[in-house]
Amino acid sequence: MKNVPELFGELVFNEAVMQKRLPEQTYRAMKKAIGEGKRLDIELAGVVAAAMRDWAVEKGATHFTHWFQPMTGITAEKHDSFITPSGDGGVIMEFSGKELVRGEPDASSLPSGGLRATFEARGYTAWDPTSFAFIKDGTLCIPTAFCSYGGEALDKKTPLLRSMEAINKQTLRILRLFGNNDVTSVKTTVGPEQEYFLIDRKMYEKREDLRFTGRTLFGAKPPKGQELDDHYFGTIPTRVVDFMKELDHELWRLGVLAKTRHNETAPAQHELAPIFGTTNIATDHNQLTMEMMKKIAARHNLVCLLHEKPFAGVNGSGKHNNWSISTNTGANLLEPGDTPHENAQFLLFLCAVIKAVDLHQDMLRASVATAGNDHRLGAGEAPPAIISMFLGDDISEMLDSIERDEDYDAREKVQMKVGVHVLPRFNKDTTDRNRTSPFAFTGNKFEFRMPGSSLSVAGPNIVLNTAVADVLDGFAEELEKADNFKDALHDLIIRTIKEHKRIIFNGNGYDDAWIKEATEVRGLLNLDTTPKALLSYLSPKNIELFGKHKVFSETEMRSRYDIMVQNYCNVVHIEAVTMLDMVRKDIMPAISGYTLKLTAALASKKQLGLSLCVSYEETTLTTLCELLGRINFCTGALETMVKNSEGLGKGQEAAEYYERKVLPAMAELRKAVDEAETLTDRADWPYPAYSEMLYGIE
Ligand code: ADP
Ligand code: MG
Repeated sequence: MKNVPELFGELVFNEAVMQKRLPEQTYRAMKKAIGEGKRLDIELAGVVAAAMRDWAVEKGATHFTHWFQPMTGITAEKHDSFITPSGDGGVIMEFSGKELVRGEPDASSLPSGGLRATFEARGYTAWDPTSFAFIKDGTLCIPTAFCSYGGEALDKKTPLLRSMEAINKQTLRILRLFGNNDVTSVKTTVGPEQEYFLIDRKMYEKREDLRFTGRTLFGAKPPKGQELDDHYFGTIPTRVVDFMKELDHELWRLGVLAKTRHNETAPAQHELAPIFGTTNIATDHNQLTMEMMKKIAARHNLVCLLHEKPFAGVNGSGKHNNWSISTNTGANLLEPGDTPHENAQFLLFLCAVIKAVDLHQDMLRASVATAGNDHRLGAGEAPPAIISMFLGDDISEMLDSIERDEDYDAREKVQMKVGVHVLPRFNKDTTDRNRTSPFAFTGNKFEFRMPGSSLSVAGPNIVLNTAVADVLDGFAEELEKADNFKDALHDLIIRTIKEHKRIIFNGNGYDDAWIKEATEVRGLLNLDTTPKALLSYLSPKNIELFGKHKVFSETEMRSRYDIMVQNYCNVVHIEAVTMLDMVRKDIMPAISGYTLKLTAALASKKQLGLSLCVSYEETTLTTLCELLGRINFCTGALETMVKNSEGLGKGQEAAEYYERKVLPAMAELRKAVDEAETLTDRADWPYPAYSEMLYGIE
């Protein structure tokens, strides 16, 4: 068996492979293209394609595909084989430069939010040479961006790359102001921590709700939930360890830096964290990770649930997006430095993030808004739907003294003037203690904790990159004009802290008092549902922001809004219809059957003269009959609403109807069914119980 360094990246057409297989000149041109995010010309692409094909065919690949991230779902791919007739009845394996750099997938059934209807019926995919090609299931996958012929982005990679370019441009302006002329490119980095649930396949197959919607729509609470907090540090069951081992192995072969694996808070919940990388690649790798999790789980007779809330009553799953800004010379710009000069620069970037998060709370929230994630955000679970930032006491105190323009800090006995003297040292370890904050500074990066487990991290990072780029643009504008850089910097930092400190909150984000303070005193937004949050895509402020930095045109913003709203409606609709199906065909018949058994038992007891006191049969029967009546009534009510919703289309009005009417009706129905479950014979209940699913893996 190969050791890890040997197998790492063996399925990736990475730099080492390129160096070995490409002619010297092509390799250098390729490296340059990767470094600068530029396109290769078609001749060079031909040479690269031939080398890629030889390499892929040697590894057993027969097909190639342009691999891209559509606006919904994980990834899309259409496989083409390498075969070309050789003229003598046989075939040869061919792959041209043209096929490498550009593809035309027939993706007319992928959502485009009306974009393709308005412009062109089809779009094209273009190779993103900054993300390496790789082999998956015998297919050479070429990471690509997907655009319409009019140039509109039909995917998530295109705007992500544009946002990285925006922040690169603005950050370089700031670095030049600090006298840094060495850095030639800046990239944001991301390490997404992926949470997931694993359950036994047999149980999954028996649950229509899990199969159709990814979450349980019914299910009474098990006798034991997560209250003992014993899962997190518990030992990992052997079957899960076997799954994790194979997952790591496969991810390493694909060049994914899978690093940490452990149990999470809820029973049957786990996490995988990679070593961070450039945002674009980290995003591709996270999509691959999710795909591999599902695939490898199946090999172990397990099912990996990536839904944000598969089980009520225990924690849902998120995807913490660790984010920072890194230079090509290897510096992390959110790392506090040791010299006054470095510290002033750090402070300016810190302030830029503070201002960006405050100004664009709405878009950050919108970037993580999905029907699934609504069950986490604002639903009494970490983190709340209100965006605030945790900086820790040390940094907050430091910002306080800077804001007061105190030139002396008694605690550390140092001068505080920005850019002139060393700032007080703070303890990095105290920065990672708050687990309830949606946006926390963790020593040298920010951790955005709102993304849901199934989300592509492209969305939140597009917003983060663009929002910070915009603030840096304003900062650069101001500082470039200044006569005295140090004074101007000092003023700018103080002003930014004053104007945006309302977003900083180091307390408990679950607290009701916080919601009151955040909304009533500080004026922060509480966009607690997806229909509310998605409207942010349409606000003039946001259309201007993304337009100015050429990340999204107005048309692209509107199309994204349309797709997300429609997706929300579809998801809730499918859930409601699935509930109706389950309740009519399985649940009510099961309860009815069980009440019949009870009736029979009761009758025979009476006949034998055994009914001396109020019997189990009698009380249970009464309650179950009453519940069955309620379930029947709630089913009718939900059905009427589903019918009504169908006349509303798939826009804002429909989304609000689903949120205000359909979801509460679903909750009512579930409540009655879950209660009935607790009274019904286990053997008669049509579905595996929570206790079996959550504790079913040894
Ligand atoms: P924890 O949050 O569990 O304390 P760490 O802080 O070590 O763990 O890292 C969490 C995640 O943050 C990892 O995926 C790691 O790769 C990522 N990370 C660390 N540094 C950076 C950075 N500079 N930019 C982006 N992500 C980072
Ligand atoms: Mg973390």
